[in-house]
Parts: sequence; C-alpha cells; structure tokens
Amino acid sequence: MDYFVAPVAKLIAELSRLPGIGNKTAQRLAFHILDTPRERAESLARAIINARNSIKYCSVCYNMTDVDPCRICSSGKRETSIICVVEDPRDVIAMEKTREYKGLYHVLHGVISPMEDIGPEEIRIKELLERLREGEVQEVIIATNPTIEGEATAMYISRLLKPLGVRVTRIAHGIPVGGDLEYADEVTLVKALEGRREI
Ligand SMILES: [Zn+2]
Repeated sequence: MDYFVAPVAKLIAELSRLPGIGNKTAQRLAFHILDTPRERAESLARAIINARNSIKYCSVCYNMTDVDPCRICSSGKRETSIICVVEDPRDVIAMEKTREYKGLYHVLHGVISPMEDIGPEEIRIKELLERLREGEVQEVIIATNPTIEGEATAMYISRLLKPLGVRVTRIAHGIPVGGDLEYADEVTLVKALEGRREI
C-alpha cells in the first residue's frame, strides 16, 4: 500500500472491504473513481450516505424501508391474513418480483445457526409471535432457504406457532437444496409457493 498516496490508499482499503472485492479490483475501482469527473464521484459518495441514512427497518415486518411502517405493511391492497417469513430483505424483493404473492412479510434477519452461535433470540422470532397474537393472521408461509439452518429454523418456528392455531406451511423444494431464494428465478419461486405444504 506504500506505493499509493494516503487518500488513495484509504479509498482502496475501504473498497476492498466490500463483499467480492479483492485488492486488485479495489485498486481498479479506485482509479476509475479518480478518473471520473468530480461531480460523478461526489454523486456516488452522496448516494451511499443518503441510502445508509434513510434506510431503516419497518417496525412491523422488519423489512428495509424509508418509511415506517413500510409500503407493503401500510398498503390497503395486501392480504393481511397471510405472512411469509423470510431470512433477508433481499428475499422480499425476490418474492415481490413474482407478482403472485399478495400477503405480508416478516423478515427474520438470519437463521438459527448453532455453528455461528446464532440462537432464536438473535433473529426476529419473538416479533413474529407478537404479530400473531393480534389474531388476524391465519397462515404463515415459511420461506427460509433450503439449507440445514433454514430447515431447522422452519421447524423451530412451526413448533412455536402450531399451538396458536395458525396454519403453518413451508414452500416446496422447487428451490435447489442449499440454494438461495434470492437467486431463484421467478417461475421457480411461484411454483415453490404454489406447492407449499403444511409442516
Ligand atoms: Zn413492513
């Protein structure tokens, strides 16, 4: 890093912290940014700051939002009797792209993983239970990823919800095992949703 003047070295160091960006790519991006007109670089910097400052989590479903409650929770057009439980805000986007699902969401922000020391208290399961106590929800579709952790989390939630008299379903395995909801194509996701079964 000694070859670079301090501000450039700092830029490369920050860029290389991004996922999938190695040192080589970080250098390439840094020099690209330095080569672009000043306004473009400032616009990029502002976009990062604005997005980071304006995005929060919906106090109902914990999806990413700039308004609270989020647009899905506050929409009058959604079926409020169904909640789809997902791991990550990116999974909500994947589901929304199908244009088939009209219910609400609940974002867990992770899955139970003893290996990584993530217990049920670390993800938003308690908040899901609180939503169900209001009694309006009749079905909970668990759409965690078909990984070992995703399956274990689905079973854990199912066991918690059953006594509440809520129908608990799991999306079908149209999604390849070990796969990621986020990368499933829309047709696969729709099929997975249609083929959901009770657990
Ligand atoms: Zn919401």
